[in-house]
Amino acid sequence: MHILVVEDEPEMAGLLARGLREESYEVSVARDGRAALELSAVNSFDLILLDVMLPQMDGIQVARQLRGWKTETPVLMLTARDSLADIVKGLDAGADDYLTKPFSFTELLARMRALVRRSQFRRKNVLEVQDLVLDLTTHRSFRAGIEIFLSLTEFRLLELLARNTGRIVSRHEILANVWGPGREVSENTLDAFVRLLRKKVDESSESKLIQTHRGFGYSLGAVRGA
Ligand code: CA
Repeated sequence: MHILVVEDEPEMAGLLARGLREESYEVSVARDGRAALELSAVNSFDLILLDVMLPQMDGIQVARQLRGWKTETPVLMLTARDSLADIVKGLDAGADDYLTKPFSFTELLARMRALVRRSQFRRKNVLEVQDLVLDLTTHRSFRAGIEIFLSLTEFRLLELLARNTGRIVSRHEILANVWGPGREVSENTLDAFVRLLRKKVDESSESKLIQTHRGFGYSLGAVRGA
C-alpha cells in the first residue's frame, strides 16, 4: 500500500511518514502542490493525504488537477480546524474525505482504511451494502447471493441509495438523479417505485435495507447519527 503524504510543515510530514511506515505503509512525501502532482504522474498511489495550505499550489488546486487527470486514487484532505469554506471547496474539487487538524492518528488510519476499501470496490465497479451487491458494469444485483431482477429505473434508484448509504437521500435528489431534470415524475410514481423495489430487495430478508423517512426521503440502511 503506497501512500503519498502532501504536507509542507516538516514536523507534521515527518510525524505522518513515520507513523504510517510503522503501520507497514510505503510512504512518499511531497512538500508542495507541484511536487505532489509530479509524483502522482509517475506513481500509482493507493491514497493521497493532502494538506490544504501548501506553498505554490494549494491542496484544492492539486485535488482539482488530479480529478482532471481522472485519477481514481482516493484523496483524504487535511485542513485547519473550522475552515468550513476549505472543506466545501476541497470536496467540490474532488477530495473523498477530510480530517480537521489536529486529528488523532487512530482516526486517520480508520479513515484511510475506509477510503481504500471504497476505492477497491469502485475499481471492481461493485457496490456492497451488507449482503446486497450491485454490479454497476452488468447492472445485475444480488441479495445474499441470490439475483434480484430490477428494471433499469429500479436499478438506478437502488444505486443512488447505495452510493449514499447511511444518509437520507431526499425525494428531490432522487427525482433529479434517477429521472433527470425536466422530467415530469409525480411523487406518487416515486413512492410506487420504492414500493416495488422494497418488495424485490427486502421482502425475503430479515434485515430491511430500504428505510422511509417521512417527508424527507429514503435511505439504505440505518442513518448515521440518527
Ligand atoms: Ca500546510
